[in-house]
Amino acid sequence: MGGRPVWAEVNLQTLRENFYKLQTYTKSEIMPIVKADAYGHGAIPVVKTLIACGAQCFGVALLQEALEIKAAFPEVTVMVIGATERNESDTLVERDIIPTVFQLAQAQALSESAVRLNRTARLHIKIDTGMGRIGFRETDVAEILRIADLPNLFIEGIFTHFATADQRDLSFARKQLKCFKTVYEELKRAGLTIPIRHAANSAGIIQFPESHFELVRLGISLYGLTPSSQIDGNIGLEPVMAWKAKVSHVKTINTGETVSYGRTFQAAYPTVVATVPVGYADGMRRALSNQGEMLIHGRRSTIIGRICMDQTMLDVTKIPGVKVEDVVTILGKDGNDQLTATEMGDWMGTISYEVVCGISKRVPRVYIDPTEP
Ligand SMILES: *Cc1c(COP(=O)(O)O)cnc(C)c1O
Repeated sequence: MGGRPVWAEVNLQTLRENFYKLQTYTKSEIMPIVKADAYGHGAIPVVKTLIACGAQCFGVALLQEALEIKAAFPEVTVMVIGATERNESDTLVERDIIPTVFQLAQAQALSESAVRLNRTARLHIKIDTGMGRIGFRETDVAEILRIADLPNLFIEGIFTHFATADQRDLSFARKQLKCFKTVYEELKRAGLTIPIRHAANSAGIIQFPESHFELVRLGISLYGLTPSSQIDGNIGLEPVMAWKAKVSHVKTINTGETVSYGRTFQAAYPTVVATVPVGYADGMRRALSNQGEMLIHGRRSTIIGRICMDQTMLDVTKIPGVKVEDVVTILGKDGNDQLTATEMGDWMGTISYEVVCGISKRVPRVYIDPTEP
């Protein structure tokens, strides 16, 4: 475990199974989204595993992330689904990384780089159909057509992103889809046919098949987590990551004694306290003080007192026999119980995405691959 009694287990076989299962939901090509170090799972091992499953094109948020993947897997196609800067055009062209273009000036810079380097730059056009983040708007068709006239560019794709595909009510998502189709058709009528259209994220692949087009961008579902508690997550995906630690200390405190900073926990009865060497510097959010839970011996124990930077205390009074070095499950299965990032997110008013991305670099990732000898 690399010395530290806190670690995250990433099961690559589960990742494979999720990929194959998701592929049964769509005929479209899957572009795995591996931004933010594959949602905290580790981009390089995740990409390597998914290449072996047949994935050919990966999406990231930043040029830096794209460069890391290209350095390890030069043959793979990488797209930056977020913004890049104009002064990054040379790098994008040299490394054949696909940028998202949503401003004319950006396309001009890319075209100039491509001309100078005597290459053709691939790009995807982003349409803002209601997410309100980045993208050309419905009224910008003329500008997109000007991009099509710039030298040494190939507009390979056009895409949009849904604001509400994870909600039960899909009426706004349908409106966005309609807008996207209108822009695409207008461009086509003007003589610009773009081969790859994409719109669906994980929520879209599950409950919005009309949005699949040629390519789907899947992030959270590959990691076995549901995009929101509003959609039925029971499609057989399993969380890829588990988060564990070993108990560092066990003691019994008397009634009236307190635990941790600010003395926010006071024992109402003699309490058996287990200390776990994980804290907010590891991504164990302080907001879970006095309310989060962890599994130990297959049972739930409650966090007592404030979570510290490096340590957290549990009430294990009702769990007999807890001792130093026992394994604590922060996320994952133990016995018949399971803690998911979705549940942990619910405790602190956030989503599973933020939980897994928040597990800090200090927590070593341990890769488990049962198919490897
Ligand atoms: C992060 C992201 C995705 C993936 O979303 P999931 O909900 O994790 O599947 C897809 N498209 C864009 C533009 C994104 O930013």
